[in-house]
Amino acid sequence: MTILPHKNYREEIDRCIRLYDNFSEAVPFVEKAYSALNEYILENPIEAAAPLDEMKVYETLQKGQSLNCNPLLDTSAVIGMLKKVSLAMNKTNPILKTTVKVLEEASDRFLAEKPEKIERNEFMEFRDDLVKENVLEQDMATFLFSIIISSFYRQYLQPVSEVLRTDIWEGGDCPLCGEKPHFGMLRSSDGAKQFECWLCGTRWVYSRVKCPYCGNEEREELGYFSVEGMETCRVYFCRQCCQYYKIFDGRKLKMDGAEILTIHNLATLTHDLLARREGFSPGSGLEWVNQSEIVDRHD
Ligand SMILES: [Zn+2]
Ligand SMILES: [Zn+2]
Repeated sequence: MTILPHKNYREEIDRCIRLYDNFSEAVPFVEKAYSALNEYILENPIEAAAPLDEMKVYETLQKGQSLNCNPLLDTSAVIGMLKKVSLAMNKTNPILKTTVKVLEEASDRFLAEKPEKIERNEFMEFRDDLVKENVLEQDMATFLFSIIISSFYRQYLQPVSEVLRTDIWEGGDCPLCGEKPHFGMLRSSDGAKQFECWLCGTRWVYSRVKCPYCGNEEREELGYFSVEGMETCRVYFCRQCCQYYKIFDGRKLKMDGAEILTIHNLATLTHDLLARREGFSPGSGLEWVNQSEIVDRHD
């Protein structure tokens, strides 16, 4: 059975249009990207990981260690997805024609030079190079590479993630893959703060008063802000390490776990911009904002 990581993306996009201002403009683009991704996955399904040894999982998590499950990426699959999504991008915005062409050439070179399987870092370094060489802007690069790599991870790890016992996990990083979170939600049933790994999709409950990045528990140094009219999205920050993440209020969504937070994240990138302007960096390392936008041009 093929796992489509974001099967109901259309409904979620519609919901997000109602919830957040400024999203509509990006919608055609996001929609095309997801439909292209799903098409690719259906044509080229990836085999899911074998179940993990339950006892070993329990022992590792109880020791406070993430399982650090990081599959090697199939180079042709991630490059295939990248090319497919960038072609779809071109259809929504013909101005991107040159960008798409340069990106395609760079992708072909990458594919020819690299072995059949690569580590996640190598793929992300490719992303960094494209930004450095001005092929892609920071926000576009983060968007493309994060949805592709997370689609790969989710297909591969979803069966494991779904049965993983995260109730014994108290860490700030993902118990399954070790990645740092960028967003989460207040669970609709009880308001508990729950992170969702942007990469593999694992969810785990985390302390309400603790920074997931530096472990700071001083109430006065932890806080959050929201934007009037868009209270569903909160930006949590820590003044100790100066980092932030976003939390969506699931009590307002009343969806019982089926929400696609990845799309809520895309719909609220203006919140990332506000956080950056306040001097906070994304603790996840996912930079969603272009440097030129952070500098307040009215200064
Ligand atoms: Zn993860
Ligand atoms: Zn901190």
